[in-house]
Amino acid sequence: ESRKEEPEIEDKDPSGHTTRDFLLSFLYEDLGETPIVIKCKAAVLWEPGAPLNIEEIDVAPPKAKEVRVKMVATGICGTDIKNLDNKNLARFCPIIMGHEGTGIVESVGEGVSTVKTGDKVIILCLPQCGKCNTCLNSKNNICKEVRLSKTHLVSEGNSRITCKGKIVYQYISTGTFSEYIVIKEISVAKVDDNALLEKACIIGCGFATGFGAAINSAKVSPGSTCAIFGLGGVGLSVIIGCKAAGAARIIAVDINKDRFAKAKTVGATECIDPQDFEKPIQEVFLDMMDGGVDFCFEVTGNPETVATALASCHKDHGVCVIIGSLAFWSQLNINSQLFLSGRTLKGSVLG
Ligand code: NAD
Ligand code: ZN
Ligand code: ZN
Repeated sequence: ESRKEEPEIEDKDPSGHTTRDFLLSFLYEDLGETPIVIKCKAAVLWEPGAPLNIEEIDVAPPKAKEVRVKMVATGICGTDIKNLDNKNLARFCPIIMGHEGTGIVESVGEGVSTVKTGDKVIILCLPQCGKCNTCLNSKNNICKEVRLSKTHLVSEGNSRITCKGKIVYQYISTGTFSEYIVIKEISVAKVDDNALLEKACIIGCGFATGFGAAINSAKVSPGSTCAIFGLGGVGLSVIIGCKAAGAARIIAVDINKDRFAKAKTVGATECIDPQDFEKPIQEVFLDMMDGGVDFCFEVTGNPETVATALASCHKDHGVCVIIGSLAFWSQLNINSQLFLSGRTLKGSVLG
């Protein structure tokens, strides 16, 4: 949900001001010249299960290779919602949730070379150092620098954000439910000055995750059949990816029929609620598709749906991609026979 009106941006207005002048005036409208510590507001989670509190926070200046960003928009990913009451987060509280956002660079620390004050950026919860063997391999995307995200800190053992004298953690080293954040330079991607930040924020997670799962992980082929289980922001983005790849039939599956209209708008050719059938949905698919669906996507985060999606795949060449986040280290209960003639089950993070 967006928090601020998107400024209207044109290359040059009649008074001769450029887009960059406009962005800079937007940055400093309520702050004056580059302040050392910025006092602003954030939605803070003090303990798992508690409501988010709007608090005044102090955001210190960025250190070397860090940038301070004025947030303009943030999405709310299913992962944020799920983790609001995750007991494992207790040792990282107080924490600012949110990891799919866009903003404008307010100031940069020493040695920052890829962005400057006034640049519009997308926040990346998967950093890209560009140097590690993961970043240098086009088949991988989990940069070695991601280790910090497990501690929900931007830098080793420290945070630039404090509230009531306490260190504030940033969810997956991002924390976009805040007016300002400090983040590593490798965790922002510069976008065009004319990008609509309120729309671009979902590229930070939901859109990249779904679209990339279809294109990069499943490698959906032209003329193929696809089934998407779960039609939240991520599932809808899978549909867009399947359509872009030229799939012939895109079947959207959800137990909430309210999601069907949007699914059709973005490219679903059919919508199915498993509760409307007497038979298990995998059997419905086997009948419908002569051997099963070419590509299935699990986008609900339920272990049972993983088994259902895999069983709905074509028995020989079907590919099933798990996108939904399952409970930490949960075990999947899958009949080994499903793999006998060649089905593939794989995971995918951030597309
Ligand atoms: P969302 O809550 O908006 O959407 C989930 C949808 O699944 C809902 O429409 C719900 O009605 C539907 N659903 C629930 N149970 C179902 C069932 N048994 N059968 C069919 N449909 C069912 O969530 P979202 O933001 O779209 O995220 C989806 C999942 O993806 C979450 O688990 C989230 O944590 C995960 N996620 C993973 C990655 C990644 O990189 N792998 C990134 C982002 C989100
Ligand atoms: Zn997410
Ligand atoms: Zn890297």
